[in-house]
Amino acid sequence: MAQYGLIEAGGTKFVLGISDVAGQIAARHQVPTTTPDETIGACLDWFAAQGLAPTAIGIASFGPLCLDRDSPQWGRVTNTPKPHWSGADLVGPFAAAYGVPVGIETDVNGAALAEARWGAGVGHGSVLYLTIGTGVGGGFVSGGRLLSGLSHPEMGHIRLPRHPDDLAFAGHCPFHGACLEGLAAGPSIIARWGASLSDLPADHPGADIIAWYLGQAAATFQAIMEPARIVMGGGVMATPGLIARVRAHAVQAGAGYFVGDAAQIIVPPGLGNNAGLLGALAVALGAVAQNA
Ligand code: ZN
Repeated sequence: MAQYGLIEAGGTKFVLGISDVAGQIAARHQVPTTTPDETIGACLDWFAAQGLAPTAIGIASFGPLCLDRDSPQWGRVTNTPKPHWSGADLVGPFAAAYGVPVGIETDVNGAALAEARWGAGVGHGSVLYLTIGTGVGGGFVSGGRLLSGLSHPEMGHIRLPRHPDDLAFAGHCPFHGACLEGLAAGPSIIARWGASLSDLPADHPGADIIAWYLGQAAATFQAIMEPARIVMGGGVMATPGLIARVRAHAVQAGAGYFVGDAAQIIVPPGLGNNAGLLGALAVALGAVAQNA
């Protein structure tokens, strides 16, 4: 049976898996993210110990990445503040070890593909996946294809109007200050209120301020893409009740102008903890199709 090697490359750990074409994950493992040589070496060691004989390998990774197939830098991390990883070659070591197609996408692009194929987007032609966690990122799939331009989208860095009760906060993005990520990612919440959203009291005003920003963002993305589904995942979205508040603010911000009902369009991920590895599988299957 065809076997796929899956790599969910994160800033703190690499999650590895081996699955069949349908996404049944037979084995999984994780290794800490230290240096590229050490971490990728540990991935290769585990795959070898499992006797992996893959049809293809998929990598869904933290970014920024070079995804331009025509560039000699394809498959490498580009300029990241993360020590050791700028320029790291994620694809080369796996391609060299196995001689099979190796695909790579950003983690959010992978999750968008997986949610479209197996998760909350099944039966819908277009899916926007947003993660709101340590950072904010987004990937958009329409008709099975990912949105891309000169590089992968950087949806976490859009500008937003400011919540009237949040004007004193400068924002937490090192590049833009008060962009979406700078206003709504986990570190911005801790910077303002000293705790994560789920650790703040239920009546703390922070929850509604964050929901307001995410509602503005959802309405902005509706204006640009009119996604059939906006899947919102990530650690911040695990806060109980948050998604309902986001829906309410998105409905208000959209003022009835966009197609569909934002309250039905905004949904939690359908794939739960498997989204990352299934994202890598979707990327591996894409690599097979591209090499066919
Ligand atoms: Zn930014």
